[in-house]
Amino acid sequence: MKKIGIIGSTGYIGRQTLDVVERNKDYFELIFISCHKNIELIKKQKTVHNPKYIVATGIKKNYRDNNLYFGWDSIKSIIESQHLDLLVVAASGIDCIYTILYALENKINIATANKETIVLAGNIIMELANINNINIIPIDSEHSGVFQCLQGNKKEHIRDIIITASGGPFLDKKRDELKDITLKDALKHPVWPMGNSITIDSATMMNKALELIELHYLFNMPADQLSTIIHPQAIIHSFVNFIDGSTIAQLSVPDMRIPITYALTYPNRIVADYTLLDLANVGNLTFIKPNYKRFPLLAKVKDIIKSSFNSYTVALLTANELAVNAFLNEKIPFLAIEYIIEKTLDTIKPLKLKSIDDILSFRNYIKIKINNKIEEYNK
Ligand code: NDP
Ligand code: MG
Repeated sequence: MKKIGIIGSTGYIGRQTLDVVERNKDYFELIFISCHKNIELIKKQKTVHNPKYIVATGIKKNYRDNNLYFGWDSIKSIIESQHLDLLVVAASGIDCIYTILYALENKINIATANKETIVLAGNIIMELANINNINIIPIDSEHSGVFQCLQGNKKEHIRDIIITASGGPFLDKKRDELKDITLKDALKHPVWPMGNSITIDSATMMNKALELIELHYLFNMPADQLSTIIHPQAIIHSFVNFIDGSTIAQLSVPDMRIPITYALTYPNRIVADYTLLDLANVGNLTFIKPNYKRFPLLAKVKDIIKSSFNSYTVALLTANELAVNAFLNEKIPFLAIEYIIEKTLDTIKPLKLKSIDDILSFRNYIKIKINNKIEEYNK
């Protein structure tokens, strides 16, 4: 039995992960699950999935409830005492960063969907994982695809890596038409059902920009060997081109439980009864080059990666987070997200931030500037 713990079991990825665990009860022992504040749901999940512990990381210890543990320290104690085989990071945001580092220091393998921590501190996470000889197994479909394509292959044999993008809901719209996009329009994703923030990131293509940064850190590849291609059917998740002219791609129906299952069972595979890919039924797989004029940040992200100054990646992530939040609260229009990010990047100095504390204090410092830009936008 593989002993696993899930941070963020109440979110979309967390619920999908619980579904995978539930279907394979003989394979996994569920040690703990955690939410941020959604106590009602985590209690329901405890009744259905029967983990040993449930934790609410976003609630202070003085809240009284004998069946529940509180705060990140509780997760650290559980990790230490229960000898986990795998920590699944399904939480959103960056608050889980210290717990990820703690797990790595304790030589616990990690399967992660969390985009923010890899973009923010991929250099530190990967360095610690390498020192401790720990696997960071990606859950995000594109990165899982690359991880799968690379099994049995050598890094020096990679020519380049391509991840696909469904193109989001506005694939057929001209740049001019993006001006009048409403919140409701932007929240409709054509292929993947996802949370609100990531659906907006998909519509602006910032999701792909962030995924390229993740790709760079997770697979230690330079920006010139990374790219993205629009593939509206979202059947192929990634391609790896090798130096001998061969290309290996990873395909599946768009169902996050498939990469989650791989991440949870790696290096094994288990029988699963999800909808199987039926290519004859899909008919056509189509591909389009991304339009960098329409999505200028997608081009800029490569320069950011090339520069190797992580002040830019931290700024890109933070400006996007705050701008998307302002759009979701209907404070700024759709195209202002991109404008705020660009204006923020213009003010950032090239810095190499080497520790988590440096990264987080820089992030707090620029948050004030970004919030001012958001305020100014509507004046
Ligand atoms: P959701 O918003 O659906 O869920 C977020 C989860 O994280 C919930 O369990 C929530 O708890 C918890 N959480 C929220 N804030 C915090 C916090 N400050 N500290 C700890 N836990 C917190 O997000 P998704 O499941 O969509 O995404 C999770 C991560 O996976 C993100 O990083 C996202 O970018 C990435 N991802 C998502 C994909 C998708 O298809 N949705 C695909 C690939 C990657 P509570 O319920 O108590 O608020
Ligand atoms: Mg993805």
